[in-house]
Amino acid sequence: MQNAAFSELHLNSTYIAFKVAKDELEQSIESLRSIKIAGFNVTIPHKVQVMKYLDELDQSAQRAAAVNTVNNIEGIFKGYNTDIHGFIEPLHRRNVDFQGTRILLLGAGGAARAVVAALSEEHGIEKLIIANRDPKSAEKLGKMGSDLGLYCETTALDGAPKFAPEADLIVNSTAIGMKNEPSIINASQIKKGSIVYDLVYRPITTDLIENAKYAQAIVVYGYEMLIEQGARAFELWTGLPAPREVMKKSLLGIFGEPS
Ligand code: NAP
Repeated sequence: MQNAAFSELHLNSTYIAFKVAKDELEQSIESLRSIKIAGFNVTIPHKVQVMKYLDELDQSAQRAAAVNTVNNIEGIFKGYNTDIHGFIEPLHRRNVDFQGTRILLLGAGGAARAVVAALSEEHGIEKLIIANRDPKSAEKLGKMGSDLGLYCETTALDGAPKFAPEADLIVNSTAIGMKNEPSIINASQIKKGSIVYDLVYRPITTDLIENAKYAQAIVVYGYEMLIEQGARAFELWTGLPAPREVMKKSLLGIFGEPS
């Protein structure tokens, strides 16, 4: 997706993936300094630890307490969180009105932090329920949400189906679905006309998305967030508007958007 964007704008840049072991993060960042890299993304499991090795944090990274994008500004490594923008943009595009909404968030990992940070900037949310396999992580994230001004409740993951029928927006930020596992929320628990947003982007259509369609809910796909967080990162690195259609085509291939 990024290489397609560089090529479209005739930029002499390349995007390469490197696997970095947990105990080699600091050395890896220092190596990137020596080669004067223009910028990079950071993913699981380094989004939090990487902050220690950066020189500056943008407000987005401070809000989510996690970094997914680093920009090299004349030798200063500055960390950003473009997942926040990536998550909320598809909802803004659909003109979602958050006034009086009840939101169910499945998961409390790195992506969930960006979701909570993004939601905290919206007005009028009535309640955010965070459900996670490890209830301690749910509580920690609930505390973060409360500190950011949201009214939060937490539950174990198996408590989620009870809350689902009253939710106006259900967000899956767990890894459930990546291996085609069945969703813990079935179609009868999804309110007609509500919004179901699955952050999982591979496969594009998860069991939760299938259930949401059956329940006549509005569906938001994980790939929409993936494109937006990447487009924002591209714009930080290059200072140019990202060619989103080219990035989308590169990501979705010849089959295009799912129906
Ligand atoms: P993470 O920090 O490792 O968090 C993983 C989350 O999934 C935790 O809440 C974890 O619960 C839960 N989980 C994992 N396996 C589970 C299982 N078998 N049953 C129940 N819960 C399980 O990862 P992350 O960065 O938040 O990513 C989570 C998902 O979001 C992934 O699918 C990732 O691809 C997706 N994502 C998408 C985008 C996008 O642009 N669309 C961006 C970022 C992430 P515990 O706390 O109990 O372990």
